[in-house]
Amino acid sequence: MTRIGMGFDVHRLVPDRPLWLGGILIPHELGLLGHSDADVLIHAICDALLGAAALGDIGRHFPDTDPAYAGIDSKLLLSHVVSLLAHHGYTISNIDATICAERPKIGPHIDHIKQTLAPLMNIPPTAVNVKATTTERLGFTGREEGIAAYAVALINQA
Ligand code: MG
Repeated sequence: MTRIGMGFDVHRLVPDRPLWLGGILIPHELGLLGHSDADVLIHAICDALLGAAALGDIGRHFPDTDPAYAGIDSKLLLSHVVSLLAHHGYTISNIDATICAERPKIGPHIDHIKQTLAPLMNIPPTAVNVKATTTERLGFTGREEGIAAYAVALINQA
Protein backbone atom coordinates (compact mmCIF):
# COMPACT_ATOMS: atom_id res chain seq x y z
CA MET A 1 0.00 0.00 0.00
CA THR A 2 1.27 3.45 -0.92
CA ARG A 3 0.65 6.37 1.40
CA ILE A 4 1.38 10.08 1.17
CA GLY A 5 2.31 12.63 3.82
CA MET A 6 3.09 16.32 3.95
CA GLY A 7 5.21 18.40 6.29
CA PHE A 8 5.76 22.08 6.92
CA ASP A 9 8.13 23.91 9.25
CA VAL A 10 9.44 27.39 9.99
CA HIS A 11 12.39 28.59 12.05
CA ARG A 12 13.50 32.10 12.87
CA LEU A 13 16.79 33.48 11.47
CA VAL A 14 19.06 35.03 14.09
CA PRO A 15 22.70 36.11 14.40
CA ASP A 16 25.28 33.89 16.10
CA ARG A 17 23.76 30.58 15.07
CA PRO A 18 25.11 28.18 12.43
CA LEU A 19 22.81 27.61 9.44
CA TRP A 20 22.03 23.91 9.26
CA LEU A 21 19.83 23.08 6.30
CA GLY A 22 19.19 19.63 4.88
CA GLY A 23 21.84 18.14 7.14
CA ILE A 24 24.68 20.37 5.96
CA LEU A 25 26.27 23.52 7.30
CA ILE A 26 25.74 26.46 4.92
CA PRO A 27 27.91 29.57 5.28
CA HIS A 28 25.70 32.58 6.16
CA GLU A 29 25.75 35.47 8.62
CA LEU A 30 22.48 34.25 10.18
CA GLY A 31 21.40 30.85 11.45
CA LEU A 32 18.14 29.19 12.42
CA LEU A 33 16.96 29.37 16.03
CA GLY A 34 15.46 26.33 17.73
CA HIS A 35 15.72 23.78 20.51
CA SER A 36 17.53 21.36 18.17
CA ASP A 37 19.92 22.47 15.42
CA ALA A 38 16.72 23.96 13.88
CA ASP A 39 17.20 22.25 10.51
CA VAL A 40 13.89 23.36 9.04
CA LEU A 41 14.16 21.15 5.94
CA ILE A 42 14.80 17.95 7.88
CA HIS A 43 11.95 18.81 10.25
CA ALA A 44 9.54 19.22 7.33
CA ILE A 45 10.70 15.89 5.89
CA CYS A 46 10.28 14.15 9.28
CA ASP A 47 6.73 15.48 9.51
CA ALA A 48 5.96 14.34 5.95
CA LEU A 49 7.20 10.83 6.78
CA LEU A 50 5.37 10.68 10.11
CA GLY A 51 2.27 12.03 8.40
CA ALA A 52 2.39 9.38 5.67
CA ALA A 53 2.56 6.67 8.34
CA ALA A 54 -0.12 8.37 10.50
CA LEU A 55 2.38 8.44 13.37
CA GLY A 56 1.74 11.98 14.56
CA ASP A 57 4.33 14.72 14.29
CA ILE A 58 7.89 15.61 15.19
CA GLY A 59 6.79 17.60 18.25
CA ARG A 60 5.14 14.52 19.69
CA HIS A 61 8.17 12.29 19.15
CA PHE A 62 10.84 14.85 20.09
CA PRO A 63 9.32 17.42 22.49
CA ASP A 64 11.16 20.76 22.50
CA THR A 65 10.87 20.72 26.30
CA ASP A 66 13.06 17.58 26.49
CA PRO A 67 16.70 18.47 27.29
CA ALA A 68 17.75 15.28 25.46
CA TYR A 69 17.04 17.08 22.18
CA ALA A 70 18.78 20.38 23.01
CA GLY A 71 21.09 21.25 20.12
CA ILE A 72 20.63 17.78 18.62
CA ASP A 73 21.72 17.10 15.04
CA SER A 74 18.42 16.77 13.14
CA LYS A 75 19.96 13.99 11.02
CA LEU A 76 19.60 11.85 14.16
CA LEU A 77 15.91 12.77 14.37
CA LEU A 78 15.43 11.80 10.71
CA SER A 79 17.20 8.47 11.27
CA HIS A 80 14.94 7.82 14.25
CA VAL A 81 11.83 8.58 12.17
CA VAL A 82 13.03 6.26 9.39
CA SER A 83 13.58 3.47 11.97
CA LEU A 84 10.12 4.06 13.38
CA LEU A 85 8.60 3.72 9.91
CA ALA A 86 10.67 0.57 9.25
CA HIS A 87 9.35 -0.87 12.52
CA HIS A 88 5.85 -0.38 11.09
CA GLY A 89 6.85 -2.08 7.81
CA TYR A 90 7.21 1.07 5.73
CA THR A 91 9.90 1.87 3.18
CA ILE A 92 10.28 5.29 1.61
CA SER A 93 9.52 5.74 -2.06
CA ASN A 94 10.48 9.37 -2.64
CA ILE A 95 10.66 12.83 -1.09
CA ASP A 96 9.96 16.19 -2.68
CA ALA A 97 10.70 19.36 -0.72
CA THR A 98 10.78 23.12 -1.15
CA ILE A 99 12.82 25.59 0.89
CA CYS A 100 11.57 29.20 1.01
CA ALA A 101 14.43 31.59 1.71
CA GLU A 102 15.39 35.00 0.41
CA ARG A 103 19.05 34.36 1.24
CA PRO A 104 21.46 32.61 1.14
CA LYS A 105 21.33 31.05 -2.31
CA ILE A 106 20.41 27.39 -1.76
CA GLY A 107 20.86 26.13 -5.33
CA PRO A 108 24.61 25.51 -5.12
CA HIS A 109 24.06 23.29 -2.02
CA ILE A 110 21.19 21.12 -3.27
CA ASP A 111 23.32 18.24 -4.56
CA HIS A 112 25.19 18.06 -1.26
CA ILE A 113 21.86 18.08 0.65
CA LYS A 114 20.48 15.23 -1.49
CA GLN A 115 23.68 13.18 -1.06
CA THR A 116 23.46 13.75 2.71
CA LEU A 117 19.78 12.99 3.25
CA ALA A 118 19.23 10.06 0.85
CA PRO A 119 21.38 7.51 2.75
CA LEU A 120 19.64 8.42 6.02
CA MET A 121 16.38 7.33 4.38
CA ASN A 122 17.85 4.25 2.63
CA ILE A 123 16.94 5.64 -0.78
CA PRO A 124 19.08 6.84 -3.70
CA PRO A 125 19.67 10.58 -4.20
CA THR A 126 17.49 10.33 -7.32
CA ALA A 127 14.52 9.69 -4.98
CA VAL A 128 15.10 12.97 -3.14
CA ASN A 129 14.15 16.26 -4.75
CA VAL A 130 14.94 19.56 -3.07
CA LYS A 131 13.80 22.84 -4.55
CA ALA A 132 14.45 26.38 -3.39
CA THR A 133 12.48 29.54 -3.95
CA THR A 134 12.38 33.07 -2.65
CA THR A 135 9.03 34.63 -1.82
CA GLU A 136 9.81 37.72 -3.90
CA ARG A 137 10.74 39.69 -0.75
CA LEU A 138 7.18 39.19 0.59
CA GLY A 139 6.32 38.01 4.09
CA PHE A 140 8.60 36.77 6.86
CA THR A 141 10.77 34.74 4.52
CA GLY A 142 11.06 37.71 2.16
CA ARG A 143 12.14 39.95 5.06
CA GLU A 144 14.72 37.30 6.02
CA GLU A 145 13.13 36.85 9.44
CA GLY A 146 12.98 33.11 8.94
CA ILE A 147 13.14 30.16 6.58
CA ALA A 148 10.20 27.88 5.76
CA ALA A 149 10.25 24.38 4.29
CA TYR A 150 7.58 22.15 2.79
CA ALA A 151 7.93 18.43 2.08
CA VAL A 152 5.85 15.57 0.75
CA ALA A 153 6.73 11.92 1.14
CA LEU A 154 5.49 8.72 -0.44
CA ILE A 155 5.95 5.54 1.57
CA ASN A 156 5.13 1.89 0.90
CA GLN A 157 4.05 -0.86 3.23
CA ALA A 158 5.17 -4.31 2.14
MG1 MG B 1 11.28 22.64 13.53
